[in-house]
Amino acid sequence: MTQIRDHDLTLGFATRAVHAGQLPDPLSGAVMTPIYQTSTYAQEGLGRHKGYEYARTQNPTREALERNIASLEGGRFGFAFGSGLAALDAILKLFKAGDHVICGFNVYGGSHRLMERLYTNFGLTFSFADMRDIRNVERAITPATRLIYGETPTNPMMHLSDLSALGDLAQAHGYLFAVDNTFATPCFQQPLAHGADIVLHSTTKYLNGHSDMIGGMLVVGREDLAERIGFIQNASGAVPGPMDCFLCLRGTKTLPLRMARHDQSGRRIAEWLTGRKDVGKVYYPGLPDHPQFDLARRQMKGFGGMISFDVNDPARARRVAERVKIFALAESLGGVESLIGHPASMTHAAVPPALRLEMGLTDSLLRLSVGVEEVDDLLADLDQALKG
Ligand SMILES: *Cc1c(COP(=O)(O)O)cnc(C)c1O
Repeated sequence: MTQIRDHDLTLGFATRAVHAGQLPDPLSGAVMTPIYQTSTYAQEGLGRHKGYEYARTQNPTREALERNIASLEGGRFGFAFGSGLAALDAILKLFKAGDHVICGFNVYGGSHRLMERLYTNFGLTFSFADMRDIRNVERAITPATRLIYGETPTNPMMHLSDLSALGDLAQAHGYLFAVDNTFATPCFQQPLAHGADIVLHSTTKYLNGHSDMIGGMLVVGREDLAERIGFIQNASGAVPGPMDCFLCLRGTKTLPLRMARHDQSGRRIAEWLTGRKDVGKVYYPGLPDHPQFDLARRQMKGFGGMISFDVNDPARARRVAERVKIFALAESLGGVESLIGHPASMTHAAVPPALRLEMGLTDSLLRLSVGVEEVDDLLADLDQALKG
């Protein structure tokens, strides 16, 4: 369990991104937190050690990352995991057979799979609700409900849910409220400030930002909850290695710079797509015609680089995805390089076709993760691919 120092919460966001949770290495003064590539630590005598006994339980590189991201989310305790799904797995282990979870119906496919295909075997029950409307969440409540779990914006339809309203609902009933903040990042949205108890990240995405590791993180403010999650982190042991923690920590230092660029280019490209006659619906929370634009402006400071758009014809979607030259056709998101994906056949292939259509996820939908390249080059690339 890694607790941040108090001053880590008082400095500005960009300062904390660079410094929070890190001190020069006590041995050499190294400015970058070393990669403590060790499984164990020598003890001076029986029961006498520096607070480090075994690296599943404590690792200084991991602790620096945990403090850093906890500070960025405005929380007090961070817990790093080997992947975003391992972090969700730890949340679900807070519960027991018979407990009921209300989950957003449009969450990340792997999150849905972990709940429906694994945790139902252990007696947890799940309802999947369209969280754009809080009444759908209220209707899903049962006497066994213990957790509300959501994502906003969602992938790839960019549905938003009202974090403060969900936080109030969870608090009124004594439920835990957990939010997957992978898309918005703490740069643009801080769920703990809206009443969330737990924030989850796939650090694989924007927090690392360079597409060179897989990782997850949980951040909480409450000490009692931190103790329970810390127990699970150590007891289940899905911890990341120190090299991956180092890579993520290097990434978070530039998070505000990268997010500003993703956001600036994202807005430009979304507007450009909206103006094209050969493109159908464009899904981006920063567009004034997004049905939840007011909510987006209320709870988000920026809209980022994730855009979905419909090219009205599945064969054309395939051509565009294969014709781009700078955008890489790939799963994942949030790196410095721009990616394009076809959700119906890639990230959301496991979602039943009827459910896909119900949420507007057609076979002609494409999804962009806009990177930090020159936006004019990205526009020219999309232009030539759409004309082809
Ligand atoms: C990628 C992703 C996950 C899963 O994270 P992994 O690191 O791949 O396990 C969870 N939620 C969202 C929103 C994601 O994009």
